[in-house]
Formats: sequence, C-alpha cells, structure tokens
Amino acid sequence: MIALDRTRTVAVIGAGTMGQGIAQVALVAGHRVRLYDAAPGSAERGAAAVAARLARLAEKGRMDAAERDAALARLAPAGALGELADAALVIEAIIEDLPAKQRLFAELEDVVDDACLLATNTSSLSVTAVAGALRRPGRFVGLHFFNPAPLLPLVEVVSAATTDEDAADTAYATAAAWGKSPVRCTDTPGFIVNRVARPFYAEAFRLHEEGVADPATIDAVLRECGGFAMGPFELTDLIGQDVNEAVTRSVWESFFHDPKFTPSLAQRRLVESGLLGRKSGRGWFRYGDEQDRPLPATAPPAPAPEWVTVSGDLGPAEELVALMEEAGIAVEREEDGVGAIVLDDVTLFLAQGGYAFEYGDNVIHYDLALDYRAATRIALAPADTVDPEGVRAAVGLFRALGKQVSVIEDVPGMIVARTVAMLVDLAADAVAKGVASPADIDTAMRRGVNYPIGPLEWGDRLSADWVSVFLSELHDACPGGRYAPSALLRRRGASEGKLL
Ligand code: NAD
Repeated sequence: MIALDRTRTVAVIGAGTMGQGIAQVALVAGHRVRLYDAAPGSAERGAAAVAARLARLAEKGRMDAAERDAALARLAPAGALGELADAALVIEAIIEDLPAKQRLFAELEDVVDDACLLATNTSSLSVTAVAGALRRPGRFVGLHFFNPAPLLPLVEVVSAATTDEDAADTAYATAAAWGKSPVRCTDTPGFIVNRVARPFYAEAFRLHEEGVADPATIDAVLRECGGFAMGPFELTDLIGQDVNEAVTRSVWESFFHDPKFTPSLAQRRLVESGLLGRKSGRGWFRYGDEQDRPLPATAPPAPAPEWVTVSGDLGPAEELVALMEEAGIAVEREEDGVGAIVLDDVTLFLAQGGYAFEYGDNVIHYDLALDYRAATRIALAPADTVDPEGVRAAVGLFRALGKQVSVIEDVPGMIVARTVAMLVDLAADAVAKGVASPADIDTAMRRGVNYPIGPLEWGDRLSADWVSVFLSELHDACPGGRYAPSALLRRRGASEGKLL
C-alpha cells in the first residue's frame, strides 16, 4: 500500500470546522494544501484560522518556528474550483447534503485529472450515493475524520460499493502516513463508530426514562464502574444534544427504524426545547452561572459483614472473592451453586437480563465492572421485597471493598452490564455483516470514542455465551427486538468461540 507522495497537492473543499482541521493535518504531514469554499471569503478565513492554530502550536513549543513557516508557505486558499486542477487528492467537507455533494463532485471531475483520488468526509450520507454522480466512481472513497481532526487519531476509510481496492488502499496508507489510526469499513449507516456506539447513549437515556436512576448517577456508574472516560449525559451535553440526536436519528432511519437504534424521547424533548448542552447553557445538566451539577446518588456508609458465603463461580465478577478476602471478610466457598454472594438473608447476583425479583425474594443485583479492583463505585438493584436492612448489608459489603454504592431501581440488565452487552451485540452484528474486521471495530471504538477496551475484546472477556444468554433474558424481559442477541453472538456463544 503506497501513500500519496508528500510532494503532491491535497485540496480540501469546505473551509468550516472539519475542512480546516483536515487541511491542517495534510499541511503538517508535508503536502501543499489548497482550501476552497463556496461562500465568499470563507476559504481565506479558513486558511487564516489554520495559520493561527499552527502559530499557537509553535508558541506552545509543539512545532518549531521553521516548520510552521514552511507549512504556512504550503497553504493557499483557492478562489475557484478550477484552481484545484493539480490536486492528487481532494477531500470534501461541505454541508451534509447529498445533492450538494453530488453536484460538487460532478463539477470537480471535469477539473481534476483521472488519477486524482476523491474523498468525502460525510458522517451520515451513503458514500456510494455520493459516488453515484461520478463518471469514474472507482477512485472515490469516504475518509471520515473525527472532530477535532488534528487531535483525534481515528479515520474511517469507507469503501463504497463502487470503490476500487487501489483507491481504498491509497487512502488508508495516506491516513496512516499522516499519523492517523485508519480503519477500513464498508458503506453502511454510521460506518463503525456512529453505528456501534449508539447504545452507549440510548441505554443510558432509556434507564433514565424508565426512572431507574438520575443522569448524574448513571454517568458516575458508567465512569467509575464501567471504566468509560465520560458518562453519556455529560458527553452528549458536550457534543450537543442536537448533533448527537441527529446521528442517532440518521442511523435509525437508515436502518428502516430497526428497534436496536430507536432514539430517545427525553433527548428529543431537549432538542425541541433548545436545551442543547454546554453550548446553550443547559442540557441534561446546567452550565455557566447556573451550574449546579447534581451529585450521583450515593448510599450512606454501612458496616462491613464479617463473613459471606460464595456459592459457585462468580464468573466475570470472580475478582470480588479476592477483594473480600483482602478486606478481611471471611469467605466461605460452596463448590456448587449459581454464582452468588450470600449475606445473612440476601443473595447477590451479578446483573442478569431479568429483574432481581425474578430470581428470588431477597435478591440484589450488582452491576458489571470493567475491573472490580479498580472500580470506585458499584450500582446495586434490590428486588422490591428486600428490606432496608438487607440493602444496608449489601452496601456495607461493597463499602468494605472501597466502593461507593449507588442503589438504583430493580431493572433488567442494570447499567454497565446492559450497556456493554448492547455494544458487544452491535459490534458482533457489524462483524457478521462485513462492515469491518473485528480488530478494526475494536480499534475504532478505542481510538474514535476512547472506550477503555474494544467491545469485542470485552465480549471475549465476558464470553460470547455470557453476553448471548444475558441478552436473551433481557429480550424476554423487554420484548420488541432491541435486545435480541445477534446471530453471530449466539453462534459464538453456542460454540464457545471468540469474537475478536
Ligand atoms: P461546517 O458548516 O463547519 O462547514 C461547511 C463548509 O462548507 C462551510 O464553510 C460552507 O460555506 C461550505 N460549503 C457549503 N456548501 C458548499 C459547496 N457546495 N461548495 C463548497 N463549499 C461549500 O461543517 P462541518 O462541521 O465542517 O462538516 C462538514 C462535513 O464533515 C459534513 O459532511 C459533516 O457531516 C462532516 N463531519 C462533521 C463532523 C463534525 O463533528 N462537525 C465530524 C465528521 C464529519
């Protein structure tokens, strides 16, 4: 695979947020860059903004002054499409509108030579549909950068149905040569990241809508127990509720209203009322002068138990046994059993696909952790029949292990387990449908949205069988298709095979 030679010119069309970022990346990589925009003065303003960012990098010592000067000398705004004739690669980042993109590329084809690689940065349109306007669609790919392009490493290299292998190879090698982490994928709604990540937001919003816990608590559990850098509520406030919801709706509509992607009514209300997040001063939370970020629900301390009985193997939560012993709690083990921690008169099970009450009167579910040792918080969901003393005993156990405890309503699948199972499911489904390789899917989720580990690796840690059974139970509890485990997950589960 050969990257575009650094002596060749790269043209960027659309000098807005993404165009500026992509121009900066190509420039710093050593190319001459022509920046074009249809709005008068925009290309010049975009070039000036790129220059200012390079100047700031030089001031902060992240780029030396000679390098900055050389880069600036290679950057020029273009006043007309005709000035892009010598480009070897054109990356389009104009308005997200299919006819506008098709018109632009049809016009561009008369300007550039036949060997010029053409790319769109679209995040939600079909790359194949944009290519439909071209006489030579074989040299057309999607190059999906993430915002801010100079900082975020992931680039999804999207092959349309009509893309030649060579074109995708060159685009991939070029993104890698620019210091990015490219992944390959086919042209399906949301590509990899915007498709597989949907449940991270949707499950949290649903749990909130179902009255299970408030946004601050769900965020805290996903951060402190799930290992995610940010919770979905604070993250979407940062992204903008309108931007995040538009992606969700676009993927859902593109998949003909597949229940796996159903948007959130609560988020719709935020968007409709202009509560867009940080940029409007209020979203799920308030910002600015009115800032009053609520704290997560945290149970008061309770005494540690002196002993517990652990029956069977705790599976993904087995590490808890060592933690309890290290905390000085006497652990009596019973070989047989279904993987339970038994306190005086309550039984604790790792989150399952059903309600806690379905597994017994005195059952409390505890949530899945990425790493029980590192987790600083755990969620507990007691069956309604568990008395307050039983809940206190369970709180005392996890407090003794150094965890804060959030007691939530009894809900199938709990918070982290439900979210992770759905991420694994969508990742497995994307593998089955040939969207991308398992390794590229995991790379995309780690590099694109900063997940602590890739969903398929997570699925393998839990085992495909565990996730498949969990989702089957969740599907029984909440029918409608959203939680039905995908075919590959079921097959790998049945054969004890790996997902990654
Ligand atoms: P933006 O609104 O900041 O910039 C778009 C620019 O394109 C504007 O300067 C506009 O004047 C120009 N433009 C519009 N029509 C044009 C035309 N026909 N010819 C030339 N220039 C034209 O938008 P953005 O956020 O930079 O997004 C651009 C593209 O990148 C979209 O396809 C979007 O889906 C995609 N994208 C955006 C993000 C993001 O987070 N903003 C991330 C990944 C991909």
